[in-house]
Amino acid sequence: TGVTALTLALGLTACGGSRGAGAEEGSNEGARIGVAMPTQQSERWIADGENVKAQLEELGYEVDLQYANDDIPTQISQIENMINGGAKALVIASIDGTTLTSVLDTAETQEIPVIAYDRLINESDTVDYYTTFDNYEVGVQQGTSLLTGLGVLDENGEPTGEKGPFNVELFAGSPDDNNATFFWNGAMDTLKPYLDDGTLNVPSGQTEFEQAAILRWLPDTAQDRMEDLITVGGGDQLDGVLSPYDGLSIGIISALRSGGYSQDELPVVTGQDAEIGSVKSIVNDEQYSTIFKDVRELGERAVLMVDSLMQGEEPEVNDEETYDNGVKVVPAYLLESQIVTKDNYQEALVDSGYYEASEVE
Ligand code: BGC
Repeated sequence: TGVTALTLALGLTACGGSRGAGAEEGSNEGARIGVAMPTQQSERWIADGENVKAQLEELGYEVDLQYANDDIPTQISQIENMINGGAKALVIASIDGTTLTSVLDTAETQEIPVIAYDRLINESDTVDYYTTFDNYEVGVQQGTSLLTGLGVLDENGEPTGEKGPFNVELFAGSPDDNNATFFWNGAMDTLKPYLDDGTLNVPSGQTEFEQAAILRWLPDTAQDRMEDLITVGGGDQLDGVLSPYDGLSIGIISALRSGGYSQDELPVVTGQDAEIGSVKSIVNDEQYSTIFKDVRELGERAVLMVDSLMQGEEPEVNDEETYDNGVKVVPAYLLESQIVTKDNYQEALVDSGYYEASEVE
């Protein structure tokens, strides 16, 4: 399959809009692919949808791209419609990874392959493949950047000997998103030694995932919780906030600002997705870090998977042990993410062509 993937990769890059050799024999030209995305409230998912659609169309597929406004019944009916509309494969970024079992049973009876995109779909044996970033590693990077921002680790990730103590509060993502626990576990495993030895102190005492989780990743909910935490903490000045997503970071920073923190006093706040608002915030010395996940690569990987399946070939994977969805271990292709701060945003985000400098500065 390595060779197949290579050929497909070359087909994608070198052949541009036309299919590589062999296209003529395939009966999949013009085949319809359903792409289900969770929400347009966050830039990353808009970019994901557009990328996947454009890349599939370049290969000659017809694309039915739908956004579900973070509403589970809407996503289920969109997928039903895709199946009824003759989709030959489905690419799905789920809202709640456990709610699609029954609609996917319908896909299975019609032998429509299903690729879980970014978020694992749980409790279904119909999920054929999964592509995402190394989600545990994303969490490690979030924890690491919090420690770097506090000066506990140096830029090489080595302990500096700084023992604080630093006051930090912790946020987690949506409990129905399988990724959220991976991010949390990666971050908490990284922070644990420093929580244990007293370098880090959590004034609210809220160190459990359930206490830290923000349903549906809603910025307003994070803002409300941060406002409460400022009160619960009894006025202790905060030095850091672990935030797993840029949208939450923006809510958290607003709460801190209205809670009396001046720009210079803002704690080290982490994030994820390198969304424009947060990159600007980083450039303006508010948010400290984000985790850059190049969704162009994720889209390319999902499209390679679809195309292999449509050619009757096995998609390339690089992980066959991590993502157990409760029914099966889903073969996955994991991509790498990168910590971005004010020091490297230029190189990581602008020089790489992900954003124009004028968009983020
Ligand atoms: C994605 C993150 C994103 C979060 C909120 C997660 O499933 O992996 O990149 O920040 O959802 O949209």
